[in-house]
Amino acid sequence: MLLFIKEFTDMARQMLRDCQYDLMELEQCKDCYRMSNEKSDKYWFCKPCRPNHQLVYAKQKGFPYWPAKVIRVENELYTHFTGKTYVRLE
Ligand SMILES: [Zn+2]
Repeated sequence: MLLFIKEFTDMARQMLRDCQYDLMELEQCKDCYRMSNEKSDKYWFCKPCRPNHQLVYAKQKGFPYWPAKVIRVENELYTHFTGKTYVRLE
């Protein structure tokens, strides 16, 4: 019984983390969130959002400079990189 409760608690914590992440993504750009989850067009990343994102070449450690959308600017840039796979940056 105790093992079942621990597994249930772990699943609930993971679901909470996923929900918090999705809410953060929604707050940053509802268009990117919708298009990345619908995946109705394999080039969804190339479609403009409202408001438009600034396009830049950004570099992630271990990778070359790559086209990206600026999602948020605070002390540093938060970007989504273009490509076949959509990578969540945490
Ligand atoms: Zn967007």
